[in-house]
Amino acid sequence: MIAYTATLLQVDPRTLGVNLWLIIAALILLTGVGLIAIATWTGIRTWITIVRQRSSHEEYMRSFHRADGGNYPPATHGKCEQCGVQQGKIFHVDSGPSLCPGCYEAYWRRETGWMDESTS
Ligand SMILES: [Zn+2]
Repeated sequence: MIAYTATLLQVDPRTLGVNLWLIIAALILLTGVGLIAIATWTGIRTWITIVRQRSSHEEYMRSFHRADGGNYPPATHGKCEQCGVQQGKIFHVDSGPSLCPGCYEAYWRRETGWMDESTS
């Protein structure tokens, strides 16, 4: 009995030590997994924000600038000289025709020889 108790006392601290190391290792592992999960989640959210900002910026650029980055000419109410459409937004090109947005898109592309990167 004494010998058994002695053996138990000799083994127990070592087993306890191993168990402690296992618990510590598990905690470190869980912390690591948690940190990776948080980092991944933050990364995804940041990426989504960047994509949203970029698309809204592109939308803004599209509404105020031509696809080649140039400014739209002044527009007033009038009639398109090309297709005859009468509407509230007719662009008046300097020393050129008055065109509706649709005709103007084709006009400036033809005049500048600009090629859309997505279609070429
Ligand atoms: Zn037109």
